[in-house]
Amino acid sequence: MSEKSLAAQLKEELFINRKNGALLMSDEEIRKADEFSEGYKRFINIGKTERLCVKEAIRLAKENGFEEFVPGKKYNAGDRVYVNNRGKALMLAVMGKKGVKEGVKLAIAHVDSPRLDLKPNPMYEASDLALFKTHYYGGIKKYQWTAIPLALHGTVLCKGGRMVDVSIGENEDEPCFCVTDLLPHLGREQMQKTGSKIIEGENLNILIGSRPFRDDKESELVKLNILKILKDKYNIKECDFLTSELEAVPAFKARDIGFDRSMIGAYGHDDRVCAYPALMAALGAKTPENTVISVLTDKEETGSDGNTGMQSKYMMFFIKDLAMAEGCEVHHVLHKSKCLSADVNAAFDPTYSSAYEANNSSYINNGVVITKYTGSGGKGGTNDASAEFMSEIREMLDNGKVIWQIGELGKVDGGGGGTIAKYVANLDVDTVDLGVPVLSMHAPYEIISKIDIYMAFRAFEEFYK
Ligand code: MN
Ligand code: MN
Repeated sequence: MSEKSLAAQLKEELFINRKNGALLMSDEEIRKADEFSEGYKRFINIGKTERLCVKEAIRLAKENGFEEFVPGKKYNAGDRVYVNNRGKALMLAVMGKKGVKEGVKLAIAHVDSPRLDLKPNPMYEASDLALFKTHYYGGIKKYQWTAIPLALHGTVLCKGGRMVDVSIGENEDEPCFCVTDLLPHLGREQMQKTGSKIIEGENLNILIGSRPFRDDKESELVKLNILKILKDKYNIKECDFLTSELEAVPAFKARDIGFDRSMIGAYGHDDRVCAYPALMAALGAKTPENTVISVLTDKEETGSDGNTGMQSKYMMFFIKDLAMAEGCEVHHVLHKSKCLSADVNAAFDPTYSSAYEANNSSYINNGVVITKYTGSGGKGGTNDASAEFMSEIREMLDNGKVIWQIGELGKVDGGGGGTIAKYVANLDVDTVDLGVPVLSMHAPYEIISKIDIYMAFRAFEEFYK
């Protein structure tokens, strides 16, 4: 038998030892990760938009004993409530033994993802084709959104307030839609352009029809024919688009990736891959010490502005309601509160390694990633979690046997980005980003690891104990 050398022993003791989570987990744990991922795949196949995620989350919450929150009502430890913010954001709380006076525990993820929104007056006809004008939502590489099947989801309010839910293009027997691109044969001029100009924003026009209404006297008969179909199907008119929110999203279903089925490819992992574990942790919370609140928020991809985004005060007002019920001040509750800002980070991609700094990147399968800070230009515009809070989270993860890693968003001055962490930290809450590494983030088809999403769930579960 060979003894380990002193150097080998010291290295094991002193170095950070990175390991693929699959080497640290039992077969049973890996099986649990795979099983958890099946539930997640169902969730993102349904939750293609923030509204659909909130709807599905409420359905699951009700199944698990959550009731709509009533301000002023007396709640006891173990009670489960939810607050639906305009159908686009959701808060789920499980009342703790200590109530809220010792602070609440927050896990906040966002359920909006990059996509193509229809313009208020979207429909037009050109050269016998009917199309929708779009305005893209969030940070996208515009060229990635051409020549892929798109589904359309959203809500139309007709004159008089009648509400029509539109959802078309996900099922095989339904039509879907598409943004066209120029053929390479004629793309010589296009391919000389810089990436951001290859497809321009005003070129993201969605093809929706080509057959004219049969009448040889009128013009715009293809558009007319589509409007006739929409009238028959939904009873809506062109002016109703003005009072609608319609979102075009990739029509792909979540699929396992790799011969080993270790990963999942899907649209919208950012940030439903954190929203689902945060939701599941809330549903699984029994009677926690502190009150726990999972928030599925909206508008993160456009800067968190608006009344369903984290720059609004909707979450603070909810915590204020809980504080008032116990006769305490909300700012005292917030000061003692802790938050895991549950958002994704960029997984190291060997094909684009120069965009990363290998020692401070997150890796597929290495577990949930803690991101101390995000931002750009010398940590501009970010929460920077304190050493003390980082230490608390590290202890919690280690004690709970959660596999975790650290990660920065790419190399210094390589670009940057932000999360909702700073808006929560600005409320005087200890906050750190913790989430799942993603490959091809913000592409129509993103990739995550089954082990990593499961470890995110385990992290929230430990946090909520
Ligand atoms: Mn995100
Ligand atoms: Mn994002």
